[in-house]
Amino acid sequence: MAQLAESVANLIDQLARLPGIGKKSAERLAYHLLRVGRDEALELADAIRHVRENVRYCRTCFNLAESEQCVICLDPKRDQTLLCVVEQPRDLMALEAAGVYRGLYHVLLGRIAPLDGVGPDQLTLDTLVERVRTGSFKEVIMATNPTVEGDGTALHISNLLAEYPVKITRLARGITTGSILEFTNKDILADALSGRQGF
Ligand SMILES: [Zn+2]
Repeated sequence: MAQLAESVANLIDQLARLPGIGKKSAERLAYHLLRVGRDEALELADAIRHVRENVRYCRTCFNLAESEQCVICLDPKRDQTLLCVVEQPRDLMALEAAGVYRGLYHVLLGRIAPLDGVGPDQLTLDTLVERVRTGSFKEVIMATNPTVEGDGTALHISNLLAEYPVKITRLARGITTGSILEFTNKDILADALSGRQGF
């Protein structure tokens, strides 16, 4: 019995380390996992294992991928002349969910945040510049988040790309500020894309 209690306590500790999960929620989740069928509980364990063993960053755009390149980079129907720059894979997914954009992406894996000690060299900027230098892009759309740091990151990138013959634009901003995820509404995103302006 002591053994069981110890393994349950360990599960609770592990769950409590997840963002947004406090001790009480961790306990609820742990007891839930003990109550549900064995298969259902193990499906969660398998999903975690699968994602950690098989998912990596796309070598081209740094989206999440299950092979060398992500499904978007591998799709020949995507518009090869449009490149949309986002901070995180989840921003890309929000834009994809809206189903309006048909070009390619570049995921920075962060934003320049001096106060958090994140400098330009910690982002995927070298690869971005190389893609613009060697690719067939005509336009680079800045879709960093409409925050001070997101704006600063976009400005830095527009300076980096100034010497290349591409048009640099950014999503038009509605009344929302804070996160690109707020653009998930298809109509708002369509407006933001069609109203995009020169940087
Ligand atoms: Zn990719």
